[in-house]
Amino acid sequence: MKRWNGWGRTDYSYHFAESSKTFVEKIVGAGQQVPDASLETVLKKVPRSRLPENPSCTTDAEIRLRHARGQSFPDWVAMRYGTVNLFPDAVALPTSQEEIEALLSLAKQGHFNLIPYGGGTSVVGHINIEDADTPTLSVDLGNYNQLIHLDAISNTATFGAGVRGPDMEDALKTHGFRFGHYPQSHEFSTLGGWIASRSVGTQCYYYGRIEQLFLGGRLHTPQGTLEMPPFSASAAGPDLRQFVLGSEGRMGILSQATVRISPLPEFEHFYGVFYPDWESGFAALREMVQARLDVSMLRLLDRFETETTLQLSGKEKLVSLADKGLRILGMGEERCMMLFAITGTAAGAHATLRQMQHIARKHHGFVEKSMIGKMWFDSRFTTPYLRNNLWESGFALDTLESVFPWSKVAAVKDEVEAALFNGLQDENERLIVFSHLSHMYTDGASLYVTYLFRRTADADQTLERWKKLKKAASEVIVRNHGTISHQHGVGIDHRPYLPIEKGALGMEGMRNFYSTFDPTGIMNPGKLYTDGKQ
Ligand SMILES: Cc1cc2nc3c(=O)[nH]c(=O)nc-3n(C[C@H](O)[C@H](O)[C@H](O)COP(=O)(O)OP(=O)(O)OC[C@H]3O[C@@H](n4cnc5c(N)ncnc54)[C@H](O)[C@@H]3O)c2cc1C
Repeated sequence: MKRWNGWGRTDYSYHFAESSKTFVEKIVGAGQQVPDASLETVLKKVPRSRLPENPSCTTDAEIRLRHARGQSFPDWVAMRYGTVNLFPDAVALPTSQEEIEALLSLAKQGHFNLIPYGGGTSVVGHINIEDADTPTLSVDLGNYNQLIHLDAISNTATFGAGVRGPDMEDALKTHGFRFGHYPQSHEFSTLGGWIASRSVGTQCYYYGRIEQLFLGGRLHTPQGTLEMPPFSASAAGPDLRQFVLGSEGRMGILSQATVRISPLPEFEHFYGVFYPDWESGFAALREMVQARLDVSMLRLLDRFETETTLQLSGKEKLVSLADKGLRILGMGEERCMMLFAITGTAAGAHATLRQMQHIARKHHGFVEKSMIGKMWFDSRFTTPYLRNNLWESGFALDTLESVFPWSKVAAVKDEVEAALFNGLQDENERLIVFSHLSHMYTDGASLYVTYLFRRTADADQTLERWKKLKKAASEVIVRNHGTISHQHGVGIDHRPYLPIEKGALGMEGMRNFYSTFDPTGIMNPGKLYTDGKQ
């Protein structure tokens, strides 16, 4: 079962070794363990529904609570401290397109808002209620999760938009295919959510970003149904699919989507590389990317993330062995880890590995073929569970991300990190801050920053700490002309920064476009931009 107030399933917990806790405490100080609000206490806050009874909807308090918030930092504070105060009035779990259309028509007539709900893994407040005065229906696509059609000749598949990552891969695997979109939230996030928030998977070099995978589908809007045929490519004017990608529920409800799929790969392996310092790793990384080497995943961790990853892996013996070996190779405190994967044919993989090794060695890198890559692969979807352990030990953690040209990314990284390091100086609080370059392009690299600080017994004070840090880092990002999000989307948390990126005319164009499909503003109000009602 899914946790109601944290990340993941209730039957799994990350092994958080005592040594890992000591590592964190040494840097930021001892954490204050504050008990969570109980489910019973929070359930008592769920008010009577303002919506009329409907056979397609439930008003069960626990289901409404579970659809109230996602996984952003403010969401965690609200759910863990029990300060959540807005709940959908009802939750619908439609099983057919007719049901979705009936709900849209009711919402139009009855003047209530609709929030499409995929897996609820948003980290920027995508599914939160912004308009408290109008009743809200959360439309959970969870039952709309079937493989509808597979074209094994064209390598495409059509799925219900509520299908979750693992179910999608299981369905394709039986036919010898893979989708290959692996965000770290894979376990719970859905196809519709990925499209609506422009998500990016870890192996996007081989499989493509979601915008390269999304071919077409059916979007139910308050003004009617938009059919998007699955053209491989089209020169017939602007591509409407681009407006659906990143629409964050404002344009309508995507009930099904056709996507590109790939045959199961003949070969796949994950590798680690250690470099003596950041500069060597960075130079190697850029050379690999600009040489367009055929890897499926590539990332470079800075020295603090390298150290923290090893310390928090929960594998003390292996890590101490690796440490000794690396020191013999001359890789000390400054060492940085690169991770890469090769996916495809065995013959192609062999050639790519040779090229990768050549560049890595040229920059004094040591390629490790058996342990580090496997460790990362095995824990790629379980690492997020560590946030639960940290929280329960008194530590708050969040991440932020953007993308910058190669010529700027290293300098901006330093600036963002400094803003975070110094962000709580007035309270004498120290932070752990580290980064990796997570997705690369020939012209630039996406910067992914993680920061950890101590929370307090008070929800507002903890939230204030986060707000200070988030604002300081976001201002550095936009001042340096970075996008406010490379992969997490806009939602509420990034909304103040979107006009800086799009400009006033761009924002007006976006509003006008979406209002053609939703003239009365009932679709997920407040996301991307504010509405008159808020
Ligand atoms: C631990 C963790 C790791 C993460 N890792 C990554 C990562 O590696 N890469 C990445 O890109 N993101 C990542 N995310 C962010 C998040 O998982 C993505 O934004 C994801 O795409 C959200 O999908 P979802 O199905 O959970 O959507 P939800 O959170 O339910 O909704 C997100 C938005 O999409 C809209 N929406 C959902 N379904 C539909 C639909 N059928 N029709 C219309 N609109 C819809 C919602 O209204 C909302 O605006 C991570 C989040 C967590 C918590």
